[in-house]
Amino acid sequence: MKAILDHLGIAVSDLPASLAFFQDTLGLQLEVSEEIASQRVRAHFISAGQSTLELLEATAPDSPIARFIEKRGPGLHHVALRVPDIEAALAHLKARGIRLIDERPRAGAEGSLVAFIHPSAAHGVLVELKQPAPKVDKFKTVGRHTLGELELFSLSDGFLWLDGGAMFGVVPRALWGKRLPPDDANRIPLGMRPLIVRGEKTILIDAGCGDKSDAKFAEMYGLERAYHLDHSLAEAGIAPDEVDIVVASHLHFDHVGGFTARDAGGRVVPRFPRAQYVVHRLEWQDATHAHERNRASYLAENFVPLQDAGVLTLVEDGAEIMRGVKYRRSGGHTAHHQVITIESAGRTAVFTADMYPTSRHISDPWIMGYDLYPMDTLSFKRAFAHEAVEREYLIFFEHDPSMAAGYLREKDGKRSVERVI
Ligand SMILES: [Zn+2]
Ligand SMILES: [Zn+2]
Repeated sequence: MKAILDHLGIAVSDLPASLAFFQDTLGLQLEVSEEIASQRVRAHFISAGQSTLELLEATAPDSPIARFIEKRGPGLHHVALRVPDIEAALAHLKARGIRLIDERPRAGAEGSLVAFIHPSAAHGVLVELKQPAPKVDKFKTVGRHTLGELELFSLSDGFLWLDGGAMFGVVPRALWGKRLPPDDANRIPLGMRPLIVRGEKTILIDAGCGDKSDAKFAEMYGLERAYHLDHSLAEAGIAPDEVDIVVASHLHFDHVGGFTARDAGGRVVPRFPRAQYVVHRLEWQDATHAHERNRASYLAENFVPLQDAGVLTLVEDGAEIMRGVKYRRSGGHTAHHQVITIESAGRTAVFTADMYPTSRHISDPWIMGYDLYPMDTLSFKRAFAHEAVEREYLIFFEHDPSMAAGYLREKDGKRSVERVI
C-alpha cells in the first residue's frame, strides 16, 4: 500500500485565535475554506509545503468535531494519508483484519473520497485515507478541424455548473462521480461549445448562454465566462458580421442565450447583424408555449427578438441549412431537439447538442434527468451509436468540460471516445 501524508486535521474551538496563530504568528497561508455539510463541519485548509493543515470547526452541537472537543479539548484530531486507489487500500486493510470506521469510501472535501481507520487499530491515532478528486481539466481554446471541403471551428462560451444528478438521470452518483467529480454543492462543470462551419457560407450552430443574464442567474448556474464566445470568435479570426446563418439545436438558454444581446440603449437585438436564424418550427412552438416543466429553460428574450427583427426562419425535420449541413431530429431532450449533421467529401461530423451533452453520455442509458422524453432519447441513441461507430462520425460534444470532439469507438461491447479536439 502506497500512501503519502496529505494533511493533519486539527479540531479548533476558537477559529479566529487559531488563525491568528497559524497565519499571523507562523506565517502560513490559508488557502480555502469549505463546509462539509454531512459532517457538520467547516474545514479551513492551510498550506504547509507538500501537506496541509486542516482546521476543523464544528457547525452544529452534534458535529463529531464538537463531541471530540467536548471530550478531549481542541487539538490534533486525525492524520490523513493520500492513496491513489481508496477501494484497493480498504480491501488491503480488510484482508489484514484492520478495524475500519468506514467499510466503504464516502464523499470528502473538494470532490475527494475518504474513509477512516478506527483509532484502536492504529495505536490511538485516527487515520483518514483520502483519494483526491481527479482534476477536471477545463479546455476552452478554439479547436480547428478540416472536414472535406469544410472548415470547422469549435468555440467556447465558457462554463456553467449544473447538478450532477440532473445531468445523469437514473445513473447513480457512485458511477458518474468517478468520471466527473462534483463540487460540494454536487455540481459538475460543463462547457458551452458552439460550432462554426465554414463552406460556401459561414454557419454558427448554437451560441452559448450569452451575457444578458443578471448576477443572480450567473450565480445559480455557476457561469464562468471570463473567456466567452466573443474571445473565441476573435481567436478563430471570425467577425460577428461574417456569420451568415445561426442555427439552433433547440431553444434552451444555454444554447441560444448568445443569439441576442443588449444594444447600447438596453434593447435586446439579434447579436449577429447579418445572419438569418434557423429554428425548428415545432421547437419554436414549444418554446413560445412553455409549461411548468420547461419554463426555466426557455427565456423569451433569447429568441422572440429574432422574430421581431424579421431574421427568423422556421424549418421542418431534415431541413438542409447549407449544402451538406442538415437538421436531424433526435427528439428526447425536447420533442423536436435536433442534432446537426455536417457532410463533406464522404466524411461526416455530427453536432449532438443535448443528445450526447458530454463524452460521458455515450452509453445508451446515460440520459439526462432534464430530458422530457427519455425513452425517445434512448431509442435515438441506440440507433445513432451503431451508425456513428460504423461510419466514423466525428462527434461534437457541446457540454463536455474537457473535450470538444472525438470518434466513437466500440470494442468487445465497450464504448469509448477517441479524442480529436
Ligand atoms: Zn437543453
Ligand atoms: Zn444544454
